[in-house]
Amino acid sequence: MSLPTLVSASANPHKVSEIAAILDGLVHLVPRPAEVPEVVEDAGTLEGNARLKAAAICAATGMAAVSDDTGLFVDALDGEPGVETAYYAGPNATYAENRAKMLVALQGVDDRRCRFRTVVMVVHPDGTELQVEGVCEGRIATEERGERGFGFDPLFIPDDGDGRTFSEMSEAEKNTMSHRGRAFAALVAALSSREG
Ligand code: IMP
Repeated sequence: MSLPTLVSASANPHKVSEIAAILDGLVHLVPRPAEVPEVVEDAGTLEGNARLKAAAICAATGMAAVSDDTGLFVDALDGEPGVETAYYAGPNATYAENRAKMLVALQGVDDRRCRFRTVVMVVHPDGTELQVEGVCEGRIATEERGERGFGFDPLFIPDDGDGRTFSEMSEAEKNTMSHRGRAFAALVAALSSREG
């Protein structure tokens, strides 16, 4: 049986590397064409943003496209930054600035529970969609730990781990329990049940 082919809507090399590792041997993942402009992610929900990205790449390539959108939802911050996670410290914020703002926001806060939620969306040229999601529960560390990964990885301690942050894990270990790992595993399951 030939592997399903999907064009990736992501241009972020960290994410593409994680996704390619998860889908290795299960889906033929084609990189996002460089000439397709980035879409403005202004739908206001993870689902809506994922749909915008996948639909744009599908329209540009004529091939089924896959996108993902992730948010970090912190209980003590009433679910913020959520869909705005990438822009937490401002429109052009760096990962480090976003983490610094989070540490300040949670200074002296005991309840540091949070979760990453990823929505994965496949849009086919005939307009049909496949949507799955993955969630990873955890807590925000009181200081940064580890060198690997990206984004909030140095601050995120998954409940299913042993107390280390995502940045202290290998990419493969992170993928076994991460929001994105779970969402793409759900995608593989959904695609294989479709193929019958
Ligand atoms: P995106 O929708 O995947 O681009 O994620 C939005 C933001 O969430 C990113 O800019 C990161 O700050 C954060 N994020 C998403 N996934 C991860 C992860 O696996 N580890 C740490 N931070 C993440």
